[in-house]
Amino acid sequence: MDNRKVRVRFAPSPTGPLHIGGVRTALYNYLFARQHGGELIFRIEDTDSQRFVKAAEDYIIESFKWLGIQFDEGVSYGGDKGPYRQSERREIYKKYVDQLLEEGKAYIAFDTPEELQAKRAEIENFQYDAHTRHMMRNSLVMPADEVQALIDSGAQYVVRFKIEPGEDVHVDDMIRGDVKINSSILDDKVLFKSADQLPTYHLANIVDDHLMEITHVIRGEEWLPSAPLHVLLYRAFGWADTMPRFAHLPLLLKPDGKGKLSKRDGDRLGFPVFPLEWHGDNGEVAAGYRENGYLPEAVVNFLALLGWNPGGDQEILSMDDLIRLFDITKCSKAGAKFDYVKGQWFNREYILKTDNKVLAPAFDKILRENGIEQPIERVEAVVGMMKMKKINFIKELWPLCDFFFIAPTTFDREDKFIRKNWKENAAEDMRELAEILAGLDDFSIESQRAAVDPWAETTGKKPWNAWRVALVGAGKGPDMYELAAFLGKEETLRRIDFAVETLG
Ligand code: GLU
Repeated sequence: MDNRKVRVRFAPSPTGPLHIGGVRTALYNYLFARQHGGELIFRIEDTDSQRFVKAAEDYIIESFKWLGIQFDEGVSYGGDKGPYRQSERREIYKKYVDQLLEEGKAYIAFDTPEELQAKRAEIENFQYDAHTRHMMRNSLVMPADEVQALIDSGAQYVVRFKIEPGEDVHVDDMIRGDVKINSSILDDKVLFKSADQLPTYHLANIVDDHLMEITHVIRGEEWLPSAPLHVLLYRAFGWADTMPRFAHLPLLLKPDGKGKLSKRDGDRLGFPVFPLEWHGDNGEVAAGYRENGYLPEAVVNFLALLGWNPGGDQEILSMDDLIRLFDITKCSKAGAKFDYVKGQWFNREYILKTDNKVLAPAFDKILRENGIEQPIERVEAVVGMMKMKKINFIKELWPLCDFFFIAPTTFDREDKFIRKNWKENAAEDMRELAEILAGLDDFSIESQRAAVDPWAETTGKKPWNAWRVALVGAGKGPDMYELAAFLGKEETLRRIDFAVETLG
């Protein structure tokens, strides 16, 4: 590594909602930047004006805010190397395209789509390169005045990069090592289009990485085939000395087989592939991790371990742990299966770790949807009593917890739990229990226990399950003292009374 300050970037093309694979790419960039005391830049690559979706930019920014991935510079963050939106950098690119043209490293080509199509039909595996460029309509074969006349007449053209064949190009990849390919297999990529006066991805990407002083390019595996071209562009510009190092991250694969993870897999198996819910122009709604009830810390932890792990068996890792332990060179080369069930497990673990105060609002929302309004402290208390009951999502609490707020109104005598636990002596036991409880001024867990435990012990009674039948109406819920303390004396006695009357 050279001794420049580490600067990495996440550079999405805002064509729609950010795919979860893109989130992982951003996360790895973030971890890498933080652990090197470096900077993370947010650049918008919107040179493909036809595919640009306005809402996508805000969506991406909001996603990272939610996940706790902070950028140091870029669109919406500011910085002194902007603008950070490529569509606002046209003049800059023009200058660099002209430089390549002047130095004979690029050329102008007038071939229309129809002409290119015809060549493809004529020549098998046609590629615009050193073998074919002399057969085409470009500034390498046409006289200069003819080229100029065509441009002046308004003819559309593209600028192509002139790739010299027969050279081994080396990509220095931190994950894959030295990736070598021969330049002969590359085609003369289009760098600029006169039609919209915009550069293509390749040119803008390299110019910006250079001007923004990017030291490491960490991105998805799908960009690996472009990397040799990028290396050649760096050299053509004379920037080889400050060429970034590359890291091409492993693909995210389908949970149940080979091939790239897609939105369809999520729809089919029931998990989101986007961080936030996305509302498309056509009214379609795509599920998001946030709206589906995932905690951002769980999503970060889950994604961080798709393609990398610190070794050992610790899986629960905070952002700080990840920053400390992350090692880009230890990422796998092979694709990572998107084990969404593991993602749910992470959410469960993070629910257990997360303060009930933080969890309560999500449950409060569900309670309100069910017509229940409670002080938030009581909602918090229920979350605290019940979150360890193997729930993956807060929404799963409702069917487990309804009885905290709604007293039983009927008892199903066929219910196995009730049948087994409401025996002949149940009514009598409950009357005795009610009497003891009624005598308590302090209805705390401790106070109840001090009064009820000795009674149960000396009489040999086991009132717990019948008590549960009375308060819950089913075989679920927390410890009885906890539940009774939550309900309070009056409600507890009322429910016991009702059960005795109803069940007898
Ligand atoms: N705009 C590209 C993308 O959408 C950036 C690729 C890169 O990081 O070089 O992923």
